Amino acid sequence: MPKKIVKKGKKKRKPKKPSKRWEKYVIEGEKAIPNKKFCPRCGSGIFLVEAKNRIYCGRCHYTEFLKK
Ligand SMILES: [Zn+2]
Repeated sequence: MPKKIVKKGKKKRKPKKPSKRWEKYVIEGEKAIPNKKFCPRCGSGIFLVEAKNRIYCGRCHYTEFLKK
C-alpha cells in the first residue's frame, strides 16, 4: 500500500504580530476608545476584549475579572 503523506504542522499563528482585528483600533495620543482597557502585559495598543464578567487579552490571554 502506498504510504499516505501526512503533512505535519498546520499553519500556526505567529505570536509576534497581533491579529488583524486589532489594527482597526486607532490610538490618538492618550485618547483611545473609551471603555476599553489596554493589556498590561502587551502594553498600549492591545485592547482587552470584554466578556460577560471579565475582560481578557486576545493576544497573551491575560484575564481580568470585573467587579460590579
Ligand atoms: Zn496581552
